[in-house]
Amino acid sequence: MSTFVDEYMAWLKAKNPAEVEFHQAAQEVAESLEVVLDKNPKYREAKILERISEPERVIMFRVPWVDDKGEVQINRGFRIEMNSAIGPYKGGMRFHPTVYLGLLKFLAFEQVFKNSLTTLPMGGGKGGSDFDPKGKSDLEVMRFCQSLMTELCRHIGQFTDVPAGDIGVGGREIGFMFGQYKRIRNEFVGVLTGKGLNWGGSLIRPEATGYGAVYFAAEMLATRGETLEGKTCLVSGSGNVAQYAIEKILDLGGRPVTCSDSGGYIFDEAGIDREKLAFLLELKNVKRGRVSEYADRFKSAVYTPVDKAKDFNPLWDHKAECAFPCATQNEINAVDAANLLKNGVYVVSEGANMPTVPEGVNLFVDKGILYGPGKAANAGGVATSGLEMSQNSLRLNWTREEVDARLHGIMKAIHKQCVDAAAAYDLTGNYVAGANIAGFLKVADSMLDQGVV
Ligand code: NDP
Repeated sequence: MSTFVDEYMAWLKAKNPAEVEFHQAAQEVAESLEVVLDKNPKYREAKILERISEPERVIMFRVPWVDDKGEVQINRGFRIEMNSAIGPYKGGMRFHPTVYLGLLKFLAFEQVFKNSLTTLPMGGGKGGSDFDPKGKSDLEVMRFCQSLMTELCRHIGQFTDVPAGDIGVGGREIGFMFGQYKRIRNEFVGVLTGKGLNWGGSLIRPEATGYGAVYFAAEMLATRGETLEGKTCLVSGSGNVAQYAIEKILDLGGRPVTCSDSGGYIFDEAGIDREKLAFLLELKNVKRGRVSEYADRFKSAVYTPVDKAKDFNPLWDHKAECAFPCATQNEINAVDAANLLKNGVYVVSEGANMPTVPEGVNLFVDKGILYGPGKAANAGGVATSGLEMSQNSLRLNWTREEVDARLHGIMKAIHKQCVDAAAAYDLTGNYVAGANIAGFLKVADSMLDQGVV
């Protein structure tokens, strides 16, 4: 490793001990940016990377609520306001038992570069709670969301910080949080995105992250004169991102054959068609059931439960051309990455944030496959959140076709920025470097313009 990356990482780890996901994300960015900092000493002199790595503000608070049995429960709420150089903080809220400061710092840090890539004026933020919505009643989720927003509403605002959804936070949770914000602040404004269509939401926002990841894959394939038509696709997750990645793969003629949840995965050799997808959406979004029920319903599918004794995930060990990890961070380990390559996968487009461990990323980049890292490939979600903010400000709603066309245009623009930035530093075809460099430059130049703040 270089002296610069060593010194930066030593500094970051000393300041943020035990925040391993944050270290992982920062290291990848620092490695990509070294060439940029060497060529442009002004960024190093102004300590831009170090400043980007220190949140502008961290808010951490108690979220007490009462469960259906009348017992008091205590969770922890967070909002990381990472960087506002190019716009108000913007990024999702995650409700999952694994949420802690370091996980959200990694997500907020990634969000800064991702939002910059979207071409829209949005800074980076992220938040959430260690609350687990799984197995909770709607009323419990409502009481929790109301308690969380009672504190969070002091810190966010349509021009300050605009949260959205992420793992464990979908339309239901956004609704409860929006209702409480409106009640306390007595104002109806676009303070959250991912809202319901009747109350300020944008068409295509639920679909946007999954659609965007598939558009990004299609752009990468187009550089080789290919399309998704007829290609077998491995998808992980069965939540918001995975569901709409599967839909767009079908739209573009691909053949999705897997999906998963934290209990296991299904492999459907016949392909997940539109009828099966409709079943999956109902199962996950309405019944809040488990993916194993897909295999009970469709005999062409085989369900494999998670086996913690295995050092690899068999979902990534099927013959295919494309992979769309859409569940969570570090879900593709080094063995999985090697299995993907062995099985013929040469397109990986990340719907999830940082789903591939660094050894896996290096394998993909070294092999020269079409590898779209999350901060570029899944930026369609936040981009469409940005479009929701624009529609709220304009007080009008664009049609489904109009939003989808803008999303598609933004994904093409993100792809082009990655390609151009990589080429400018003699790293043609390296989307990791391209995304990090292009995302960094806009934020870095804005920070230079605004002085030491
Ligand atoms: P959802 O909560 O809708 O779905 C998450 C899916 O991943 C579920 O199937 C869940 O299974 C599975 N999953 C979550 N955590 C784990 C885990 N630790 N191990 C195994 N499986 C897990 O979330 P989203 O679809 O919104 O988010 C998925 C990914 O996409 C995340 O990385 C998120 O940060 C990223 N992303 C999301 C955006 C959005 O707009 N929603 C935007 C950009 C990125 P189970 O139900 O069993 O927990």
